[in-house]
Amino acid sequence: MSLPIIDTFGRKHTYLRISLTDKCNLRCTYCMPQEDMQFMPSKWLMQADEIEELAKIFVEMGVEKIRLTGGEPLVRKDAGQIIERLGLLNTSLTLTTNALLVDQYIGQLKSAGVQSLNVSLDTLKEDQFKSITKRDHFSKTLENIELLLSEGFTVKINVVLMRGVNDQEVNDFVRLTLRNARLHVRFIEFMPFNGNQWDMSKIVSYADLLSTINNEFDFKQLPGELHDTAKSFQVKDGAGTFGIIGTVTHPFCSGCNRIRLTADGKLKNCLFDTSEVDLLKPLRNGQDVRPLILDHFHKKHFAHGGHVAFDEKHAKTDYEQNRRMIAIGG
Ligand code: SAM
Ligand code: SF4
Repeated sequence: MSLPIIDTFGRKHTYLRISLTDKCNLRCTYCMPQEDMQFMPSKWLMQADEIEELAKIFVEMGVEKIRLTGGEPLVRKDAGQIIERLGLLNTSLTLTTNALLVDQYIGQLKSAGVQSLNVSLDTLKEDQFKSITKRDHFSKTLENIELLLSEGFTVKINVVLMRGVNDQEVNDFVRLTLRNARLHVRFIEFMPFNGNQWDMSKIVSYADLLSTINNEFDFKQLPGELHDTAKSFQVKDGAGTFGIIGTVTHPFCSGCNRIRLTADGKLKNCLFDTSEVDLLKPLRNGQDVRPLILDHFHKKHFAHGGHVAFDEKHAKTDYEQNRRMIAIGG
């Protein structure tokens, strides 16, 4: 019987996010630098067997939910096989994806018991999509979101809001939630990572966002749960919901239950903590990785990886030392 992953603040960690790769078929400006992006050589990545073995260990340690992410998890050639294998574990399985390739995986997603996917879409305008992602795949993304809904999946659309870029589209996104009970929208505050040109003025705060939505819609807040990152709302007579993930202006660290494993097998105890523990090499050497996991979570800071503030000064120091988001896995 393995010990559960509990930190010194009594938080039990039951939600594992595994990055399958740092590669991607889009180039979103907020997620990766536009120049000099070095991707990991394939030989650094965890192999399917290793991912399965580590996932099993985490499940024994109390993980109840696994999310596959990246980079774009579905660009990995063996993504279908990994999805099927993890679908056999005693956890719920889900993905965060840009949806561009999901049409090739519908059967495997269903047989693995995936019911809900998070899909990134930051704009409903074709030219803006190209400007944010540097790729021309707007219609394919929309087609695949429709496909997921028609195949019975729940879709949570993740919108990273950036002032002066897509903040004029907030109410168009909220409108999408009016008719379909399986379509939800979550607005995410823009967060600082290595090379993503973050600054506070680009953030649309929780309060400003609600005020914009209030100009057009009558809505109510929904009850939340301890581990929720999003505060959820529903428009009066709406079918789906919208949420706000206010990492910067409304942190949710007190209820954090998240564990992150990067594609090269490094364990992170917080999205913003730069300290990492390698699990892959010890696993390959036949070492028991459980003590390493417990020890790393014992060192977890209460909030934001121990950084004191989100501001320009710390963005250039603390957050710039972290990995790029594309190499962590959101
Ligand atoms: N490729 C997949 C996708 O885009 O959904 C999965 C990986 S992506 C890194 C995971 C999530 O992180 C996406 O919802 C993306 O919008 C979000 N993300 C990336 N960079 C971010 C940033 N700087 N601030 C807030 N969210 C960010
Ligand atoms: Fe790729 Fe997702 Fe990052 Fe966009 S947000 S570059 S789709 S990993």
